[in-house]
Amino acid sequence: MNYKNTYAALDPRLYHKQPPTPLKNPQAGHFNEQVAKQLGWTDEKDLMARWVDILGGTYVPKEFEPLAMAYAGHQFGQWAGQLGDGRGLLMAQVLDHNNVLQDLHLKGIGLTPYSRMGDGRAVLRSTIREYLCGHALSTLGVPSSNALGFVVSDTPVRRERMEVGAALMRVADSHIRLGHIEWIASYAPELLSEFTDYMIDTYYPECRDSQTPVLAFLSEVVTRTARMIADWQLIGFAHGVMNTDNLSITGSTLDFGPFGFMERFDPSWINNHSDHTGRYTYQNQPAIGYWNLNIWLPHFMRLDGVTRESLADCLAPYETSFMQHYQQGLCRKLGLPHEQSSLELAFEWLTLLEDNKLDYTNSFRALLTLIEPEAHPHEEQLLTTLKSELDDTGREVLQDWSTRYLTQIEKQDRSAVIESLSTHNPVYILRNNMAQRAIVAAEQGQFEEVARLYDLLAQPYTVQNIATDLDVTPPPADAPSLPISCSS
Ligand code: AMP
Ligand code: MG
Repeated sequence: MNYKNTYAALDPRLYHKQPPTPLKNPQAGHFNEQVAKQLGWTDEKDLMARWVDILGGTYVPKEFEPLAMAYAGHQFGQWAGQLGDGRGLLMAQVLDHNNVLQDLHLKGIGLTPYSRMGDGRAVLRSTIREYLCGHALSTLGVPSSNALGFVVSDTPVRRERMEVGAALMRVADSHIRLGHIEWIASYAPELLSEFTDYMIDTYYPECRDSQTPVLAFLSEVVTRTARMIADWQLIGFAHGVMNTDNLSITGSTLDFGPFGFMERFDPSWINNHSDHTGRYTYQNQPAIGYWNLNIWLPHFMRLDGVTRESLADCLAPYETSFMQHYQQGLCRKLGLPHEQSSLELAFEWLTLLEDNKLDYTNSFRALLTLIEPEAHPHEEQLLTTLKSELDDTGREVLQDWSTRYLTQIEKQDRSAVIESLSTHNPVYILRNNMAQRAIVAAEQGQFEEVARLYDLLAQPYTVQNIATDLDVTPPPADAPSLPISCSS
């Protein structure tokens, strides 16, 4: 692999260098060949032969320079002070086959100076959820961290019950969070200038061409964050804990805890059972992104040439960037041009879904069969199910909407419409119950279901014969939701 451990060369106040604390008897959970290839991991015999030892912390290749990063953050709207990697270590940075710098970060690998009251470990259930979610978002086309693989072990870990420790090798284009800047501003403000240079040179080198590179960089972080959140909304993803320590400066999804993929459409849906006030509901995500950036940007006023007014100019395009990306995406999901009449149809469609508690993913996918009846057997079944869940009023609304939708579709190039619907509306997402079934089996030592879900989610836009009905079935509309909390 092409190592480039640049973070380890920064000021030592920013991290603590230390080896991982090994797990007892680590065993293979799953290995992500696709990510491994991209990193160049598969080219190295030693890494391939010893991946379980590496992920279990029993073997550290000599090129690795493990360290725990310091950061801070606002959690649920409150200043939380110093946080930092309490159970993870940045093990190495490498240039992948596209020449993109990637962090290898091992999560669940023991105590660090930032562990606070925690035990430094991660349990199997949350590790599997993170593993499958990073994979699902990546293949859906949403900027996200992914993982090289995970291991399970004999190390006991206490949560609400006794569980076993697991570790995941997360791969992300950066582990610098908004909270890194909050830490620097509070604990080492003299490092801000050098650290900002590092972020620009490493992740936003094109901003060096600007007359004001810092402002260009901040504007770009704002835009990328807005676009990432628009992607979440389009795919029906709720992150669950959008604290400033969980948002990356590259606009890539990071830190999977109580996340969820929308099933029956409900904008006020919250998957995180620890979020009692509903701060991080699906519909709040765009506003929370703005809130986070708004408290983050003023730290840069310490730098020469950065004023309150110039920061306001960086933040102002957030809403238009979000709206542009979201509305364009919605139109693509319908296969229509980005214009007012398409948006009106889109919002009526969402209202129909909400009023009738219809499955978000399946409903959009079912549109294929409205356009080409009898050509899409899977989608035809989805439409039949959807109709069976409507009452008389709902059926009338659907009929009326379909007529107007098909009139718009007639004006378009049919093959382009089919292409747009098929590539923007997934067949498969990671439903809570899918992950849960894989977890229950894995806790009995059976990893076949994790492997099957990995294969299924590798091609989320394609109907596959390894799927079962359960993979495309939401829970009944009146079913209590699966409790997913921050404890992991
Ligand atoms: P999270 O909610 O996973 O984003 O974590 C918030 C903070 O708590 C981060 O600083 C984590 O490193 C830390 N943390 C979470 N779980 C543990 C744990 N079991 N042991 C130590 N630190 C933890
Ligand atoms: Mg976190």
